[in-house]
Amino acid sequence: MHGHFYQPERRDPFSGEIAPQAGAAPFRDWNARIDAECYKPNAERGNLRHISFDLGPTLAYWLKDKDPDTHAIFVDSDLPPGILDAECGDAMAQSFHHAILPLASMADRRTEIRWGLRDFELRFGRRPSGIWLPETAVDMPTLRIAVAEGIRYTILAPWQAVDTNIDTRRPYRVELGNGKSIAVVFYDAAMSASISFESDATMDADGFARDRVLPRIAGPAFPDGTPRTAVIATDGELYGHHQKFRDLFLARLVNPGKDVPDRGFDITTVGQMVGATAVGLFPGTRISERTSWSCHHGVLRWYAECPDASDGRWKAPLRVALERLASAIDMVAIGLAADFMDGDRFWKARDEYVDVIFGAIGPDEFAMRFLPIASDEQRGRFLRLLEAERWRLAMFASCGWFWDDPVRPETKHILLCAAKAVRLIDDHAGTNLEARLMDDLSILVSPSRRIDGAAIYREALAEAGQPVR
Ligand SMILES: [Zn+2]
Repeated sequence: MHGHFYQPERRDPFSGEIAPQAGAAPFRDWNARIDAECYKPNAERGNLRHISFDLGPTLAYWLKDKDPDTHAIFVDSDLPPGILDAECGDAMAQSFHHAILPLASMADRRTEIRWGLRDFELRFGRRPSGIWLPETAVDMPTLRIAVAEGIRYTILAPWQAVDTNIDTRRPYRVELGNGKSIAVVFYDAAMSASISFESDATMDADGFARDRVLPRIAGPAFPDGTPRTAVIATDGELYGHHQKFRDLFLARLVNPGKDVPDRGFDITTVGQMVGATAVGLFPGTRISERTSWSCHHGVLRWYAECPDASDGRWKAPLRVALERLASAIDMVAIGLAADFMDGDRFWKARDEYVDVIFGAIGPDEFAMRFLPIASDEQRGRFLRLLEAERWRLAMFASCGWFWDDPVRPETKHILLCAAKAVRLIDDHAGTNLEARLMDDLSILVSPSRRIDGAAIYREALAEAGQPVR
């Protein structure tokens, strides 16, 4: 079982707080509600010790701050007693801001992956061997970056293999060129879908084990000795939040206790299956470039019109507007940094800035490490530029494009990240990139309210209590 634990970020980039959300009543906000319904009970029942999981960094910050006990159980569950090889741990990394990596620039992919891996290392106390790619969106360059950073395996949907008849009951190897490869575990589409979408299927764990799991993996091992396995991958929030009390289903399925007779199969985790196995031992396959688990049209859902949205015409201009902004911020940042640092070193600093966000190092110490002989003014500017880069990375979180309409809170949130980034730059550099951003946003229109992107941007700022210019 794999649980992908992640939610759209709700923290206001200006205040650092989550505004109360009426829809989450009786809880203060959705994070608190989902914690009470899902994270906390699954942690307390010990479920995390028997499943593999990834915990999105942006969510992990909230959890560590607001429910440190549950966060601590997530961390402790990575290596349950008896798992001696850290590479076989339960936890997988996730890239940092849940951006669709195949749509990002190479530099942004590297930063997102390096931040995600470094966050994992600081949080779990080891380097990760597996990575969950946001929306399982994949292409070869993304896999090459992950492997260059030490990643050995990932999980994908079966339709992301070129071979349409792939047998998902065993792991595979994808060759990446230059002698590099990665292990890929394709999840079981039918069982994962039934867990996600058929609430009747998850009423009774014993029945699910007997009627669904066992028939799927019963039988002899593969000729090379690999046992038959089935990986069920879903959103982690399904267990208790999307479906009530399914934390109990999960507990019974993965840790049935001694009173349950032998079911004819064992529970293992993806880390134990592939974490420490030589990738070269798995049979080769190829992946279908620019595909994902929640869009059957490649990765169209996050940049263009696909049939998943009744009117997706707003998506392309939103992405273009933010990409233009990102390029402009990068140019201004490199220009402003030029009198104390060359471009390559600035990007290296960006890749390491996650240590400041995590709190592993104070900002002043970080600046001193990169600029030991610069002036205080220069070090201050350096930190401000990196902070702008942080928010301009955050504005590409996939949630902004996932739904049907840009007036939703997820899109407003990425617009607030854009506002935070552009104002840091404009206030410091005397540029007016914000005016150009709003001009570009005015091209897109909300299908439901017929207001344009600039109006949505102003609305998001007003709701956050920020001045609208
Ligand atoms: Zn689609």
